[in-house]
Amino acid sequence: MESSAAALARVLVARREQLGFRIGLAVVSAGGSQALTGWRITLIWLAAYLAVQVGEHRAFRDVSTAADLTPRRTRAVLAAISAGTLVFGAIGLLLATLAGPWGLVCASLVWSGTIMNGAMVNSGSRPALIASIVPPGLYFLSAPLFAHAAGEPIIYGFVMIFASALNMVVVLKIWSMSRTLIDTERRERHMTYLTLHDPESGLPNRTALEQDIAAMLASDSSTILVVAALGIDRFTQLRGAIGYELFAGLIREVARRLAEQHPEGQIVRLSTAELGLAFRARSLQQACTHAAAFQSSLNAPLHLGENRIDVSLTVGLASHGAGHELVASIVERANIALDQARASRLRIGVFDSDVYGNPASNLSLMSEMLLAIDAGELAVAYQPKLDLRSGTITGVEALVRWPNHRRGPLGPDLFVPMAEETGHIQALTEWVLTRAVDDQAALQRAGHDISVSVNLSGRLLHEQHFADKVLAIIGGAANRFCLEVTETAAMENPELAMRSLGRYRAAGVSVAIDDYGSGLSSLAYLKNLPATELKIDKAFVLDIADSQRDSMMVRSTIDLGHSLGMRVIAEGVETETALSLLALLGCDAAQGYFIGRPMPLGDLFEFLKRRPEQGMQPASASSLAVAGTLRRTQS
Ligand code: C2E
Ligand code: CA
Ligand code: CA
Repeated sequence: MESSAAALARVLVARREQLGFRIGLAVVSAGGSQALTGWRITLIWLAAYLAVQVGEHRAFRDVSTAADLTPRRTRAVLAAISAGTLVFGAIGLLLATLAGPWGLVCASLVWSGTIMNGAMVNSGSRPALIASIVPPGLYFLSAPLFAHAAGEPIIYGFVMIFASALNMVVVLKIWSMSRTLIDTERRERHMTYLTLHDPESGLPNRTALEQDIAAMLASDSSTILVVAALGIDRFTQLRGAIGYELFAGLIREVARRLAEQHPEGQIVRLSTAELGLAFRARSLQQACTHAAAFQSSLNAPLHLGENRIDVSLTVGLASHGAGHELVASIVERANIALDQARASRLRIGVFDSDVYGNPASNLSLMSEMLLAIDAGELAVAYQPKLDLRSGTITGVEALVRWPNHRRGPLGPDLFVPMAEETGHIQALTEWVLTRAVDDQAALQRAGHDISVSVNLSGRLLHEQHFADKVLAIIGGAANRFCLEVTETAAMENPELAMRSLGRYRAAGVSVAIDDYGSGLSSLAYLKNLPATELKIDKAFVLDIADSQRDSMMVRSTIDLGHSLGMRVIAEGVETETALSLLALLGCDAAQGYFIGRPMPLGDLFEFLKRRPEQGMQPASASSLAVAGTLRRTQS
């Protein structure tokens, strides 16, 4: 349930946006009231009403979320809104006193109308909408009658009917705004939950642990940060013996025991039979002592229904800052340590980079890369993007390749992160971009109207002078280019990111948020980014046909992207079923091995020739069935 402070903050924002309307409405109402009560009373009433409205506006103009409301301010807001309602209602009372029985009817209608209008329309509920539209509607419609009864010109009555129409428009607008806000917030909460939890056990997942780690790294540096991967031994036999359903219960029970040992942090599920946690220790030795304590918390058997089950754990440990960052992330290293421990039949293993493979051989990689750039040995592969509405290829993503003769072909996952670390990413990106500009022009000359997306590393996003370089390289082809920026990169320094993205957009270059869903952006922030495209991370797309969780995530992302005015594209489409399902869910475009693998420019020409005006494949029966289930479970 949403907190009342959040609802109140929303009410305030909505009221701020309609201030002009409310004042206008009061002035128009004053015209009608003057006919029945005379100028003096009307002016006093109007001045009081305007004072309260303007006062409220000035006092709370800095409030936009629940966080801006202390309990004292909350009381003040409620008092101000009530005061406004009372003053507006006062005109009803005046009418009742001065205009006889008709006025009495009007008074009660004004009262109920204003109260519900102010307090309930913002809740976004349909009954509240009707309740707040009908009473003032009736009141204003009856206006000509009492204008007539009071012997005043009938025109006053028509003025009030006009005011009533304005009122309805305002009410409808606030109502629909509130609905959109409420919907977006609800979906965002749901998606945050999905991204942070394991659906089977309800435990937090790896992403949640990574967030923990980031927070811990930011807070304290006097001790070392250690991540433990705790693997349940003999898990295949265990699950075979107790069944899948009880196994999820068993995982929860193990997590509960561990939580007793580790009350200050959370226990997450890393994979089917692996839990994980992060903690701080003075030394690796102390970390091993902690690990042993986790193991002994399972000395007593677990009780699951009728069953008493003995469970034991093997633990892999990895520490931050041991110089292994180039090898893998700390969670991966803990996983590797767990494998290493099992392979050596140890109960606790600490990550050992020598066993894993010494990264020292990679130290010369960067200088080799710079030489390769100069020697023209790098290459760009293009992966087609299929527009799901027209069924045609409308764009490609440029992906760098290094056909290294000495080491064998190297994938970008190996050298791009290192180029980022060492600052050489700028040279690499400039090279890819220059290449892409030439190739785009060649495509254009051959009659293919294809836009090209280039990946922009987070490091470069924050360098303002780099934007000048990029725009100079792209030159006149700006509206044929898109820059893909990962959501995590954009979140690192939102202000700088926003500034350079704004510059790209202003020059006509499109901007895509890459790997969306993997980094847990807050939508509240994302919607401020000047991005045109949202790319759903392939982790959610690869299994979309089999995993309900993934398909729900994809569906929510599509809806959200659309509600923020972005084009949504899914990457990692490997099957026909996945493609048809995405089309059914309303996704705008798709990219993946099923459509086409990344390929050299020459092959791309062939590929485009072979698929001239390719129509969409018809949705297969299986994908229709999956989509049907999705609709039913989500409605
Ligand atoms: P990315 O931007 O998320 O690129 C998509 C990656 O997914 C590519 O891997 C692509 O080959 C792969 N992929 C495409 N379709 C499928 C599919 O259907 N199934 C599966 N399993 N994978 C698919 P690649 O080329 O290895 O690139 C890896 C990452 O390297 C890219 O991820 C991007 O972050 C980075 N990268 C590549 N080229 C550049 C570049 O020029 N500059 C920068 N800064 N980064 C680059
Ligand atoms: Ca990309
Ligand atoms: Ca991606």
